[in-house]
Amino acid sequence: MPSTKEDIFQQAKDSLLYAGALIPGTDRTEAQHFETLNPFDHSVIGKVQRCNGEHVDAAVKAGREVFESGAWAKLSPGERKSIMLRWSALMEQHKEELAALDCVDAGKPITECLNTDIPDTIQTFSWYAEAIDKQFGKVSPTANDKLALIVKEPIGVVGAVLPWNFPALMFAWKVAPALAAGNSVVVKPAELTSLSAYRMVQLAHEAGVPEGALTLVTGFGEEVGKALGLHPDVDVVSFTGSTEVGRLFLTYAAQSNLKEIILECGGKSPQVIFEDAYDLETIADDVLSAAFWNMGENCSCGSRLIVHESLKNDLLGILKQRLSDGWKVGNPQDPETSIGPMIEPAHFDKVCHYIDTAKKEGAELIQGGDVLALGAGMTIEPTIFDAVTSEMSLFREEVFGPVLAVSTFETEAEAIDLANATSYGLAASLYTSDVRRAHRASQAIKAGTVSVNCFSEGDITTPFGGYKTSGFGGRDNGLEAFDQYVQTKTIWYAN
Ligand code: NAD
Repeated sequence: MPSTKEDIFQQAKDSLLYAGALIPGTDRTEAQHFETLNPFDHSVIGKVQRCNGEHVDAAVKAGREVFESGAWAKLSPGERKSIMLRWSALMEQHKEELAALDCVDAGKPITECLNTDIPDTIQTFSWYAEAIDKQFGKVSPTANDKLALIVKEPIGVVGAVLPWNFPALMFAWKVAPALAAGNSVVVKPAELTSLSAYRMVQLAHEAGVPEGALTLVTGFGEEVGKALGLHPDVDVVSFTGSTEVGRLFLTYAAQSNLKEIILECGGKSPQVIFEDAYDLETIADDVLSAAFWNMGENCSCGSRLIVHESLKNDLLGILKQRLSDGWKVGNPQDPETSIGPMIEPAHFDKVCHYIDTAKKEGAELIQGGDVLALGAGMTIEPTIFDAVTSEMSLFREEVFGPVLAVSTFETEAEAIDLANATSYGLAASLYTSDVRRAHRASQAIKAGTVSVNCFSEGDITTPFGGYKTSGFGGRDNGLEAFDQYVQTKTIWYAN
């Protein structure tokens, strides 16, 4: 029977949840574990295996063996497709369970997990499954006595290193295209959020994905993530996380086998509201969703509001009203909650530090800024600072919390300069009723995704990734994601 969310909440209360290595032939009896906590009240909800370099070696070896055997890579596209569709059907049966696991593990509001994270996760798997038997190679325009085929082949063993903010969805963004392309995948979830990854890998094996083709290693970045990055037999690492750790993967590749590295990193995304923007009420909803959805623990969080001087007071008035009418801050297990806790004490301290620094640097606190006495006390109210200048830390650095920085401009050129004045370039949105301005500005803003008159990150059909220090080496999502996980071969024939 699929577990309900109430079952998972109860198991979390009884500290019975578990995640650990899923590698053929490994035994968990002697394993070392660490406790995993509910971010809301800091209760122990279960335990996670502390894997090490030996587990990584075993997982990579299993992946290589399956890859060379062809048991996954050389299945016909139709066979791989039907196994992956079976897997996504199993996830559909277990959607409440997966949603509840992300809720208790990451402190994400249950309603978001049920309505967004898990449906999007399942759709990612079915979309890539469906794409498997629709990929074609090319025939080159050679002379008649020659034939040249340009074909795409899976690369081999892929390491997927994941962040904690969207545990199930980031798993899907990496694993679905990598496996669909025929690779073996070793997944390393964030140490704070391993539970849904463990369950999804179990379901994959149940659906028929060979055990060696998809393995899981849990544990810490410095132990397990680094071992994957340095491993001489890993062909690709696809990483999502901070820019700081992303840089390390480039050095790991340089120090080992020049493996391919794909990085999806941080952001400081602008929301630009031009003076000819229409419907401030709708824009206000977008601005709040962009800034505060998932507590601002969102790589493409619209954390900078760059608004024309003439609209600022009206827009800020609506934002403040909306925040007091809705956006309930509370226990993520409550279906009414929109804002849950920060993921862990160190991250909570970092967000509080940014709030203090913004005050010291002269930004004007106009909304929130307080920590609420809920659970273990790591829940921060949606916070807005006005009069943020481009020199301030709040303007330039990723907070990864519910803190919105407001700046103003007078001319279009000034708005574009402000939008581009950070080292990041993941996403941006702009609001205008002038189609020519929309066209100019969307080209001038340096970001991997620009949304016009909406707040949206696109969907599974469109590539997602960053300019500048927000990304490196490729894109998640869309058919473009396959490029991360295949290599190009030319095959010449002559008469
Ligand atoms: P993080 O960089 O701390 O950790 C990410 C992963 O790297 C984890 O699995 C961690 O264990 C591992 N890791 C940590 N130190 C390591 C080391 N020394 N060597 C090897 N691996 C190591 O990031 P996080 O705090 O989990 O996630 C938040 C960050 O992720 C934010 O910056 C956010 O913007 C970014 N993010 C980006 C996207 C995107 O698509 N661009 C999506 C989600 C999150």
